[in-house]
Amino acid sequence: MYKNGRVSHWIEQVNTMPMLNQIKLPDTKQDLVIAGAGLTGLWTAYYAKKKYPNWKITIVESQHVGYGASGRNGGWMSTLLPGNGAVYAKAARNAGKDGQAEVSRLQRAVIDSIYEALDVMKMENIDADQQQGGQLLYATIPAGLQRIARARKSALKLGYREDEIKNLSKKEINQQVDVHGSIGGIKYAHTVSLDPAKLCFGLRDSLLDMGVSIIEQTSVEEIDKGLVKTSRGPIITDHIVSALGSYTPSLQASFSGLGDRALVPINSSMIVTNKLSDDVWGSLRWDNGQCLMDASHAFIYAQRTSDNRIAIGGRGTPYKFASGFSGDGRVDSQTVKGLSDKLQSMFPRLEFEVEHTWRGTIGVTRDWCAGVFYDETNKVGVARGYAGHGITSTHLAGKTLVERMSGGEGELSKLIWNDHQSGRWEPEPLRWIGIHSMYRLLGFADTYEEKRELRETSLIARFAGKIAGVAT
Ligand SMILES: Cc1cc2nc3c(=O)[nH]c(=O)nc-3n(C[C@H](O)[C@H](O)[C@H](O)COP(=O)(O)OP(=O)(O)OC[C@H]3O[C@@H](n4cnc5c(N)ncnc54)[C@H](O)[C@@H]3O)c2cc1C
Repeated sequence: MYKNGRVSHWIEQVNTMPMLNQIKLPDTKQDLVIAGAGLTGLWTAYYAKKKYPNWKITIVESQHVGYGASGRNGGWMSTLLPGNGAVYAKAARNAGKDGQAEVSRLQRAVIDSIYEALDVMKMENIDADQQQGGQLLYATIPAGLQRIARARKSALKLGYREDEIKNLSKKEINQQVDVHGSIGGIKYAHTVSLDPAKLCFGLRDSLLDMGVSIIEQTSVEEIDKGLVKTSRGPIITDHIVSALGSYTPSLQASFSGLGDRALVPINSSMIVTNKLSDDVWGSLRWDNGQCLMDASHAFIYAQRTSDNRIAIGGRGTPYKFASGFSGDGRVDSQTVKGLSDKLQSMFPRLEFEVEHTWRGTIGVTRDWCAGVFYDETNKVGVARGYAGHGITSTHLAGKTLVERMSGGEGELSKLIWNDHQSGRWEPEPLRWIGIHSMYRLLGFADTYEEKRELRETSLIARFAGKIAGVAT
């Protein structure tokens, strides 16, 4: 029987440090208090402390470092934009700017962020099993291949260079990973696979060495100018950053980027297999740290872990009524079966067992675009809404927030995701009905397209995309 929940396989493997919950709340005024010790909070603290070594910085975390999506994810530090390029471009055009140029700038910043994050990890001796094997996106039916071709064409217009997103034939895909049924795809060059919990804990250790205070098992309940109210009392501070990911709506405050229906927590679930033998890996040819993703609407994401397992994730039960969270991450058996069946269909001869399953929530805004906000008058910053493309984005957001706290004169503060307004989700029960209908339709569209070997994306999927507010 597999382990279920317990935050994640990654956390279970490395969470050996006692809780940082005995630390006293600071009784002197802080320069910066950050709510949330996920990767956004950790990177923000890192860049703030680097820029201002004398600053007193406290991170307040309701559970423990990496408890949220940052310690549960698929471990892809990817180049994918944390939002819809077309939506960002429209927002830029509405502001009188060149949409294509603005999105391209954001895309280049995301790509640069991977290299900067890798440099920091090297400098700080953070070993998170990082391996830059790129990202394979493959199709099994012509409609999938057509979607990939469209995605590539659009990516080339919006910041990628030809050599960063290469077409691969069926044979070339199978030379990289011998996945069943592929008819071709593309490879994104820069993507890094890593162990997300090791990254969180590595950053935590560096921050503790640098003198940042991290207080666990303490919730931020409310923020106001210069004041953070926690479950253990108030903290007075100059700057405040909300880095709560999908938990953002739980914070009482009305600053830009926050609020009741600013985003919804959507589930993503994962399984990890037993350790596979060298013979098995020999037959799968999955040797260079490639991240693997298919072009179905209910897509999956997978990596070979450093200890020779396959970790694969995808959608399960998408959303809990009234924006409920995933707790410690228990997964229903139907979702585990769905992910196991998917893995088996990718590698029909593979014999494996599921050893651990878990889920987490991604924070999704109404237009599926992330935003970074900074209120200069009240000195409150917010970053949220990266959906499933958060690992690289947390780094870029952290750096951007520090630049904005410092006057916002640099290039990062001009990127199009700054102050991007996404609108609000509908009230319940409309929200639940809309999200569940969208996911059902996307699952149905996959089956429909596969059975008929469609050459083009079905109308069903296009309709689901319209409900979601994303283009398909
Ligand atoms: C299963 C899964 C797979 C994913 N795979 C990938 C992937 O492969 N690649 C990728 O780029 N992205 C992926 N993502 C998305 C990515 O993990 C997130 O976008 C990113 O980690 C968000 O980081 P964060 O720091 O903003 O939020 P979080 O990591 O969620 O951190 C928020 C923190 O705030 C804490 N908190 C909550 N409420 C309070 C409060 N009131 N007071 C104090 N603290 C509080 C939480 O405990 C948590 O630790 C995945 C997500 C999931 C769930």
